[in-house]
Amino acid sequence: MIQIPDYTVESHVEVAPRTTALVVVDMQNDFVDPRGRLCVPGAQATVPIIAQLVSACRARGMLVVYTQDWHASDDPEAALWGPHAVADTWGAEIVPELAPKPGDIVVRKLRYDGFYGTSLGHELTRRRIDTVIVTGTVSNICVLHTAGSAALRWLRVIVPVDAVSALTEFDQHATFRQIAFLYRGTLVRSEGITVRG
Ligand code: ZN
Repeated sequence: MIQIPDYTVESHVEVAPRTTALVVVDMQNDFVDPRGRLCVPGAQATVPIIAQLVSACRARGMLVVYTQDWHASDDPEAALWGPHAVADTWGAEIVPELAPKPGDIVVRKLRYDGFYGTSLGHELTRRRIDTVIVTGTVSNICVLHTAGSAALRWLRVIVPVDAVSALTEFDQHATFRQIAFLYRGTLVRSEGITVRG
């Protein structure tokens, strides 16, 4: 029997509106909708939680960034996972409840890491963003890779534990352990995030 790894979920964290971005990772039909190609069972339950965060951040004029897994039909990832998030298909669309609005940024991504081969780093840097709140799916895959990549760029990483979803409980705990231990990110429940003044 393996024990649940040790990590702390903070009760409260405060962020500055101008230098913090909310990142919504891969909340697309293929990962969230039961009819999707790689549906993550817990993803649907995070939709209203993420929607709440998105609207709270938009209301404060904060940057909201969506990543969108986006593959050519002959992408090598299809050999690993089966075809998913194929460009210009229903499966690749962001779920309607979380549809991006004008002013939000949508970053189409090639692999697990939202920064790899995309303009995400540039978009954050040019806005002087120093903190990212990372939500979405799949916790130990694209969420973790994107959060880790943000941490390697010395961005402060905050992960609301109720706004990410994994295929198994083990994967969820392993993600939180890596976020806290390796990337020195902050774990918090979504209602514990407050936007400064
Ligand atoms: Zn993919």
